[in-house]
Amino acid sequence: MNFVLTEEEKKIFDLLTLEGCCLRCCLRFIGCRNPKHYQDVAELEQLAKYSDVNKESALEEVPCIACLGILQSEIEETVIKRITEEVKIQNYDCTTFTCALTIPISLCLRERSLHICIAKKLDLTKDDYNNVKYRTQNIKDIWKWVVLPKLKNTIGKHADLTTPSPFLLEIFFVYTHDEKECCALLDKLGNTNNKPSERKKKHNSTKYSRKHIESVLSNTSDELFEKCYSFPLAKPNSFIHIGNVLCSHTSIFIGGRYNKLSRQLSQTPWFINGEKKMETSVQDILCEPITEAVKAESIKFLSSGREDVDVRNINSGRPFAVELINPRITNITSELLSNLVTIINNSSTQVKVTTNLKLLSRDDLKKLKEGENVKTKFYRAFCVCRSIPQDMSCLDNLNKLKNVKIVQKTPIRVLHRRPLTPRVRFIYDMRARWAEPQELKNLLNVPSDTDNTFFILDVKTQAGTYVKEFVHGDFGRTKPSLCDLLNVEVDIVALDVTGINLSWP
Ligand SMILES: [Zn+2]
Repeated sequence: MNFVLTEEEKKIFDLLTLEGCCLRCCLRFIGCRNPKHYQDVAELEQLAKYSDVNKESALEEVPCIACLGILQSEIEETVIKRITEEVKIQNYDCTTFTCALTIPISLCLRERSLHICIAKKLDLTKDDYNNVKYRTQNIKDIWKWVVLPKLKNTIGKHADLTTPSPFLLEIFFVYTHDEKECCALLDKLGNTNNKPSERKKKHNSTKYSRKHIESVLSNTSDELFEKCYSFPLAKPNSFIHIGNVLCSHTSIFIGGRYNKLSRQLSQTPWFINGEKKMETSVQDILCEPITEAVKAESIKFLSSGREDVDVRNINSGRPFAVELINPRITNITSELLSNLVTIINNSSTQVKVTTNLKLLSRDDLKKLKEGENVKTKFYRAFCVCRSIPQDMSCLDNLNKLKNVKIVQKTPIRVLHRRPLTPRVRFIYDMRARWAEPQELKNLLNVPSDTDNTFFILDVKTQAGTYVKEFVHGDFGRTKPSLCDLLNVEVDIVALDVTGINLSWP
């Protein structure tokens, strides 16, 4: 064995062994940074013999006073088995993992107490004392060195030590007497305070929490700590045990473009008093098959704007993405994506995916959000003149207009959810023509008065324009409107979104 201890390290090693620390904790306190020394049990046992003190106690199967067993082989098998079972049940396909441990607060108290003990018994200078504290290796790091290589074999995933894996394993260790030990300390600290009533009150209201104890500890001097948490440490009569094992995966995003071919479909599920008001929605139709395929826990539907219930969206379609929260399946092949398109498109006549689906990065999503403000949009409006215009060539005049500036007060229909500031928007371009009867055939609610004259208007607008209001004027709240421009009362019969200028997905 090629492990040589300095005189001082040997003294610390012997002292801690006598007090009841396990061998790995002894190595931790003398600052050993070589994973091999912690991993190799044979080497550890050699080390036990190497020291002067009779190390039988260190090899005994009692809980270590410093780690309460986290670093001891006694509980290792149980812990690995428990984690492995949980990971198998949860069945994530991610090939890597990152591990996060939560350990009882008792362990901090015990470590601090041991540092003070080393300083006193070995009569260390302040510098040496600080040095020991600084060199002590973190219990969680050592646990990872020892356990992760074994976990890798049992769960079949690589531990990602350099960059965090999107798959997180959270492991909670529980010590039965943790609360008792911490509260006893808080009580004693409370009693040494000059204003016990106030301290008592504070303690009762915050109770026993990691944050509270950590802040109390950082404000407590070694002298006071020693008085209240006296050495030798109470020998633990039970090993620490493993509590919850939680698995989670960061969100993934899948997106594409869709057409909405129905004038009776809302974008998101519509609930009133917990009751679903419409059978389905754009969100349901697009997201349910995707959620099911990747076995996500929940979703967030993201789209670049939205259609009203009665507005269709045709041609290239509207950009959308779905955030899949805590997905089990993350190996997204192009085959899976194209299967999803088929499934969605076969499931509904109301919504169709018009592009390939794509796995998206967070940067892609920014584009979706930013696009909402910078993009230009194209609409086709089916309009009706309430009386026959005196001059049937009036539409030609519309076609000559470019970059018409309009001011829109918040439309009456959205007053309840939008601020009141008027918007200035531009209608970049317009193309209007009288409608052929067959073009109105499939439209609902077409008024049948003989005086009605129908026309079709294609517009290119700035993002955020209220097109319906631009057509009918919204009782003078949009200026100018088509009514103003044509000098006749105009209403809108139907609206289609015909293009959204965004390179997506
Ligand atoms: Zn230990």
